[in-house]
Amino acid sequence: MKLYYDNDADLSELENKTVAVLGYGSQGHAHARNLHESGVSVIVGLRRDSASWMKAEADGLTVFETAEATKKADVVMVLLPDEKQKDVYETDIKPNLRSGNALVFAHGFNIHFSQIVPPENIGVFMVAPKGPGHLVRRVYTEGAGVPCLFAIHQDPDGNIRDLALAYAKGIGGTRAGVIETTFEEETETDLFGEQAVLCGGVTELINTGFDVLVKAGYKPEIAYFECLHEMKLIVDLMYEGGIAGMYYSVSDTAEYGGMTSGPKVIDAGTRKRMEQILADIQNGQFAREWILENRAGRPSLEALRRKHDRLPIEMIGSELRDMMSWIKKE
Ligand code: NAD
Ligand code: MG
Repeated sequence: MKLYYDNDADLSELENKTVAVLGYGSQGHAHARNLHESGVSVIVGLRRDSASWMKAEADGLTVFETAEATKKADVVMVLLPDEKQKDVYETDIKPNLRSGNALVFAHGFNIHFSQIVPPENIGVFMVAPKGPGHLVRRVYTEGAGVPCLFAIHQDPDGNIRDLALAYAKGIGGTRAGVIETTFEEETETDLFGEQAVLCGGVTELINTGFDVLVKAGYKPEIAYFECLHEMKLIVDLMYEGGIAGMYYSVSDTAEYGGMTSGPKVIDAGTRKRMEQILADIQNGQFAREWILENRAGRPSLEALRRKHDRLPIEMIGSELRDMMSWIKKE
């Protein structure tokens, strides 16, 4: 697998070009500020009533309404919430694209599932940092970068690879290393990861473990510490040293018990269901469901949020976290 670094990318690809970063949220503020400090001519595109408008200006950036920013730009990076991108594309972006422009994404959902179908004379690529926006920003200011993925969807003029690498360099990505992927691979693995492992899998594992202990008569406070609080310690160890690094640091008792009991929790049945989740992502079933859910005004998401808010682990957790002065509250 090839990794691209600073020497493989040439920022002059962006010379005499204007980049519009649409959205100034988690990713938007990081991309816009990093590009700006890398010497790229950047403007920010927002709604007139956006709370971020003043923030972007205070950060030294020039802001226009989304349609106007698109009109002024050669390269348009779409960093709006994925569920809103299609509507904004139809009303503000599409009418203002010119032949030779490039449209850029940080996640492949809307292109891969054909929610956005740009004209053939528009270059389309992705640069997706493998980290949250605040990290993309902070690490850049420290002189380093967050690794990125890039992918090419449409390349009408034959310059998109160079442009994508230049963009990745502008946000600091090539300082760490950039890997080429496809819109398909990025979209499907991203959805699978958040559903089966990161957001869905891990929360159900924590909550079920908590529930088993509480139902067996143990104090919810103790169950909370065991099943949720200590997750961070374990994940930090894996983040730094892989699974082996974690097992090296815990006791031999934990190592033996973990290695023997883990496969009883996550067994062949779990694997089959994970494969089904992946199949539903690949065949578009999940995308269809999520697109329709948004069109219906998100009734299921709201119901699920209410259900999650009432979970006992959340009640006890919010009390316990008040005891921990070092945990930052939003
Ligand atoms: P976000 O919710 O943090 O920010 C969205 C921004 O869009 C906000 O500034 C908001 O004011 C603006 N906005 C919302 N609706 C708008 C509209 N109708 N018109 C104009 N502006 C509007 O979003 P984010 O997390 O930065 O995600 C942006 C993209 O980056 C998504 O494609 C996401 O998948 C991708 N991504 C995010 C992360 C992450 O860590 N958050 C990581 C990799 C990729
Ligand atoms: Mg993701």
